[in-house]
Amino acid sequence: MSSEKMKILVIGNGGREHALVWKLRQSPRVKQVLCVPGNGGICEEATCLPGDPRNLESLLAVAHQHQPDITVVGPELPLSLGIVDEFHRRGLRIFGPTQAAAQLEASKSFAKEFMQRHQIPTAHYAVCASEDELRKSLGFFSTPIVVKADGLAAGKGVVVARTKEEAASAGAGMFSGRLLGVPATKVVLEECLRGEELSFLVLSDGDRVAPLVASQDHKRIGEGDTGPNTGGMGAYSTDSLIDQNMVEWLVNHIARPAIAGMKSEGAEYRGVLYCGLMMTARGPMVLEFNCRFGDPETQAVLMRMESDLLEAIEASIEGRVSDGLFHWSHDASCCVVIASGGYPGSFVSGKPISGLDQASRLANVKVFHAGTTRRDGMFYTSGGRVLGVTARAPRLEDAIARAYTAAEMIRFEDKHYRKDIGARALKSRV
Ligand code: AMP
Repeated sequence: MSSEKMKILVIGNGGREHALVWKLRQSPRVKQVLCVPGNGGICEEATCLPGDPRNLESLLAVAHQHQPDITVVGPELPLSLGIVDEFHRRGLRIFGPTQAAAQLEASKSFAKEFMQRHQIPTAHYAVCASEDELRKSLGFFSTPIVVKADGLAAGKGVVVARTKEEAASAGAGMFSGRLLGVPATKVVLEECLRGEELSFLVLSDGDRVAPLVASQDHKRIGEGDTGPNTGGMGAYSTDSLIDQNMVEWLVNHIARPAIAGMKSEGAEYRGVLYCGLMMTARGPMVLEFNCRFGDPETQAVLMRMESDLLEAIEASIEGRVSDGLFHWSHDASCCVVIASGGYPGSFVSGKPISGLDQASRLANVKVFHAGTTRRDGMFYTSGGRVLGVTARAPRLEDAIARAYTAAEMIRFEDKHYRKDIGARALKSRV
């Protein structure tokens, strides 16, 4: 570990990246944070530079010009395109998995077959390479059936079909490209699991793992988990989500076997491994792996992190992840996402946002920006998910109330947010 102050480059432009920038800036060892391309809020805390996270050449050009000491990648796309491999080839230090390791997220069929090879608990499934195969496989499932397109689809490539006809039609739509815009080469059918979902993230150096605090995401647009799936409408994190025994079980039966499995298959996994779980009556099962921090879970989780994020990132890169790496507040946290009206369908951007200063002045509140731009000192909406209003407090109910107090102070035309973030956790206590 060197004592020199570092220049950090963060890639991405969402609420997750704002939270990463905010937390990294708290490290006494960080002298400057750059972000490509960033957003309105990030530009207040980091130097934002132009570049496209979908275009590795543009990211390499920024790294070449600015010579960051470490690069931290927010979204999955650059990881699945091989940004880590390209940076390594040029001798640049970067946090995250290689392209081969990022397959755990980029290919659902790879992930399912991998879990089967390594006895990691997951739903029964069939990988289908054609519509014909899919129709035949449907005979082995009872309804409802989950239909998933192979490949990255930002959480939108999953259909829970109530009937076999609906499953066949969703599969056909995925193969033809009608459903997602691009034709899927493979479609995965899965048994539909029931239970509470849980986001369990670990940091790995390829061998060892250190768990982060657990959190719960809210994927649907509407209250009571209704309506279409979104990128995430809110999240909360609290110690009471899972106890220490469960943390150990998840590390021993899911996280460690996944990291050891990837190593044994020649694709060592370094970075954050996000285990999307369903806590079923048969025990925890993996719904999906993601190869990076979640959004908006990161906003809620980093709000509770008391240790230095840069130290953890360096430990992953340098192969010295250990149990004592993280320190967490026992406070609970809650992130309420404010979206543009119409999201996840079409929406209008460019609406002026007010009340941000007032909301940010509340104690233990941080407003993370996602889809915003800044012009002449004013903020405007520029995306579906606009802000992640995040609060912490010793009790979850107070963290939730504080996040909503702040969310109400923020105004823009047609703003929309769910009123029930974290409500399920409160209900399950009584
Ligand atoms: P995935 O991208 O695989 O995480 O799926 C997105 C969402 O679909 C999950 O967060 C769950 O809400 C739901 N889902 C995925 N797989 C299943 C399953 N096997 N059973 C029930 N729900 C599922």
